[in-house]
Amino acid sequence: MSNTKKVLILGGGYAGVKAGKTLHKIFKQNEAVEITLIDKLPYHTLMTELHEVAGHRTEPDSIRIDLRAIFSGRKVNIVTDEVEKIDFEQKKVSTTRKVFDFDYLIIAFGSSTNSFGIPGIETYAYTLWSYDDAMKIRHQVEKMFQLAAIEDDEETRRQMLTFAVVGGGFTGVEMAGELGEAKKHLSEKYGINQDEVTIYNIEATSRILNTLEDDRQVKKVERRFKRLGVTLLKDAAIVNVMPDKFELKDGRVIACNTLIWGAGIKVNNFVGSLGLKAGRAGRVDVNEYMQTAEYANVFVAGDNTHYEDADGLLPQIVEAAEQSGHTAAENIANLINEKPLQPHKQVYHGFMVSVGSRYCVSDNNGLKLSGFFSMLVKHLVNFYYLFTVSGVAQLFEYWRHEFFHIKNNRSFLGGHFSKASPNFWLVPLRMFLGFMWVIEGVNKINEGWLVSAKMIASDAVSQATEQVAEGATYAEPLLKEVPGIVQWMIDKLIAPHAVVFQTMMVFAEIAFGLMLIVGLFTFISAIATTGMTVAITLTGMSDASILWYFFGGIAMIAGAGSTFGCDYYVLPPLKRGWKRTAIAKKSYLYFH
Ligand SMILES: Cc1cc2nc3c(=O)[nH]c(=O)nc-3n(C[C@H](O)[C@H](O)[C@H](O)COP(=O)(O)OP(=O)(O)OC[C@H]3O[C@@H](n4cnc5c(N)ncnc54)[C@H](O)[C@@H]3O)c2cc1C
Repeated sequence: MSNTKKVLILGGGYAGVKAGKTLHKIFKQNEAVEITLIDKLPYHTLMTELHEVAGHRTEPDSIRIDLRAIFSGRKVNIVTDEVEKIDFEQKKVSTTRKVFDFDYLIIAFGSSTNSFGIPGIETYAYTLWSYDDAMKIRHQVEKMFQLAAIEDDEETRRQMLTFAVVGGGFTGVEMAGELGEAKKHLSEKYGINQDEVTIYNIEATSRILNTLEDDRQVKKVERRFKRLGVTLLKDAAIVNVMPDKFELKDGRVIACNTLIWGAGIKVNNFVGSLGLKAGRAGRVDVNEYMQTAEYANVFVAGDNTHYEDADGLLPQIVEAAEQSGHTAAENIANLINEKPLQPHKQVYHGFMVSVGSRYCVSDNNGLKLSGFFSMLVKHLVNFYYLFTVSGVAQLFEYWRHEFFHIKNNRSFLGGHFSKASPNFWLVPLRMFLGFMWVIEGVNKINEGWLVSAKMIASDAVSQATEQVAEGATYAEPLLKEVPGIVQWMIDKLIAPHAVVFQTMMVFAEIAFGLMLIVGLFTFISAIATTGMTVAITLTGMSDASILWYFFGGIAMIAGAGSTFGCDYYVLPPLKRGWKRTAIAKKSYLYFH
């Protein structure tokens, strides 16, 4: 019988991914441990950004990260299949196609929406709890604008253009904010009068955003809603939902074809059916090690966990999911390594809630922000998360989706970064810049740079300045005084080997110039020549004309060689080959 310990992680959400990363870190050198993560989807969903896709802000791909890419080159096998059954006694997990044995199990299947038995919710309401949900809402919203554009009857049109988001928690508020923003450009696109569009955020209690302690922050959100044209209904419990209307507790009936339910969650339906001891909303009871009451080898993490300690009930948020995933994984490792189990610690850094793309309120460890800086913090937190999950590759994807490819200026930086012009406008400049670098190099050869010291004198600037004062026709150096450290490097390191450095410089100028002309590895040659202009300027050897080389180089950095250049042919196969290497997989150092 094999001695291999099999660890199964069920769910590739925040908790499951964190558990996989922790286990990989501990067991990467241990052949006797096998780690497998099973999710019905091939990707990790960025749940916290679902509203952005549903509300037409970012493109669908922005909220999916390939699980195989996350764990590529790592000791975690990915299985894409739906789990249908768990036999805890026999230690077997059945998916639709296969049965997996396990020694240790982490269940991290998240939550399902809770309709609280309100009639019509399950049948007619849209939910926002998965990528598919976000896409359904996205299509439904656009479809309503399309249909309204050809509807002659005003009452029917207004009904089509009424969108109700139920729930004054983070999900509901963020979704309503996105729709408030989307209505402007969707109305323009379909020729709709914006006054006919109604967006509700409906909350059963008298206050939205109960997790935010400060009433002033809640007021700010309410003011932002007003600016976006979102109508907030408080103390307004929904009692019935029909295909074309819904009814409130006070008897009001509102005609509406699109009701988005974001008012409650409960344990994932499948987890709820497992028969494990459950606490509030069916979440599975665990001890301080994230172990189930029934089985010492079965752990639960993330939203489907019911755990309470002196710091309170484990919240259903990303930080809690990640931390509990880590605790579960660490304690499985402790069991395998026969070490004492470590209790879970709850440490949270606060909350952020965005209302559209340009406004956010946040409370991070008592630092209460709103507006631009709060939005900045939200993006920085996302940067950090994505970097830890999938390195610079994912970070770049995020920038692309949130800033460089954003439509309708829906970013807190506006559309400044998304205004792209085709690369072919850069082709003449690229060739001219390359040509000028080649000329520079050739001129230096003619001036004898390969045979005797030319550029290095103890004080290049003062020499040039003196020569200018004496009436020589030298242009004045851009930098009046060489920084001390640079002067020291010139005197001690470069001057003794002047011809060697000059030769390197001449060949670099010619080589990078030629690369720019033919558009080969333009990114590298652009960075190198831009760096050279800085170095030359710092040594006091250039006049102001060097500035155009500098700014020209910057303009070439982002893909100028991909049009009418060798990069068009050379880079794609190189990128594909690089992505397959172990080092790229491990470091995530690649672009998609
Ligand atoms: C719109 C929205 C906005 C949010 N905003 C925030 C926020 O700003 N900040 C914050 O901290 N939290 C936020 N949350 C909450 C946060 O997303 C959750 O707390 C978090 O996703 C929980 O992580 P998890 O790993 O437990 O579950 P999930 O992330 O839900 O992952 C569960 C995984 O299990 C898989 N799965 C489920 N059933 C099966 C099955 N039978 N077989 C195979 N695979 C299965 C799913 O495909 C999924 O990948 C938000 C949630 C939503 C919906």
